[in-house]
Amino acid sequence: MLKKIARFFFSIILAFVIVFGGFWVFFGDTVKEEYAVYKKSSAPILLYHAVGEPVEIEWPPGMILSASLFEEHLQYLTQEGYQIITVAELADRLKLGYSVEKFVAMSFDDGYRNNHSEALPLLKKYNAKASFYIVDRDIGKTIYMNQSQLLDLIASDMEIGSHTINHAPLALIDPKYLPWEIGSAKKFLEKKLNGYILQGKAYPNGGYDKNVINAMQEYGFVYGLTGKVGANTHQNFAQAPYEMYRISIVDDGSRLEGFKRRLERAYIWGYLQTKGIDLNILREMLMK
Ligand SMILES: [Zn+2]
Repeated sequence: MLKKIARFFFSIILAFVIVFGGFWVFFGDTVKEEYAVYKKSSAPILLYHAVGEPVEIEWPPGMILSASLFEEHLQYLTQEGYQIITVAELADRLKLGYSVEKFVAMSFDDGYRNNHSEALPLLKKYNAKASFYIVDRDIGKTIYMNQSQLLDLIASDMEIGSHTINHAPLALIDPKYLPWEIGSAKKFLEKKLNGYILQGKAYPNGGYDKNVINAMQEYGFVYGLTGKVGANTHQNFAQAPYEMYRISIVDDGSRLEGFKRRLERAYIWGYLQTKGIDLNILREMLMK
């Protein structure tokens, strides 16, 4: 079975390399120009989890970044001339048709305490902003941020968003719980944050479906974050504000090189989507 999957994967990749490689050779300059134009009109959203001090749960390798590696990312983006903004700010720019050239949004899922103790000081140091997606039931628990730390993020011009009440995989649960995990999650968190209005939600594990999108709209969210890889354009946002793309940032051991590759991957996958090639579909098939 594994062999079959591997062969299937290999043949798809091979076909892709031949088609796209051929395309590149024959239309190289045009493709490069188009890609450069695409990059200017799109912005990636980076997804982080924990930074710095280890947290006391089981983690897949690479999910916790050292503070020094995170700082290297900030340094690199700053040197490259990127403005690092919140997802709400990016959504606004996309909605209004403002330029997003050399803009990147940063996001942190799950609300770990080290987001406040380790990441926030570095974000401030580099004049960067980020969005933090919080699970209601975890607020104040040992490894998670408490109410005053969340309020401090808001006071520091960061964005807070929802990540459901129970970290519920929204496409897998009974749809009767969607009003709770989407609507009530928003209300509870807004109350905890003294009336701060939430604009966005990150879907736990990236999963969503039509019911989720409908509920997002019904409960007044401005945008939703999926686990699909790509970059975000004005057109994407106008068509599907609840299906924004993100790229997961992990420590693969190659320091800055791995980060540069992931940043580029967001743009490449996004560009290919404009050509009707969605590598997310292939990835989903392989993960099933
Ligand atoms: Zn999560």
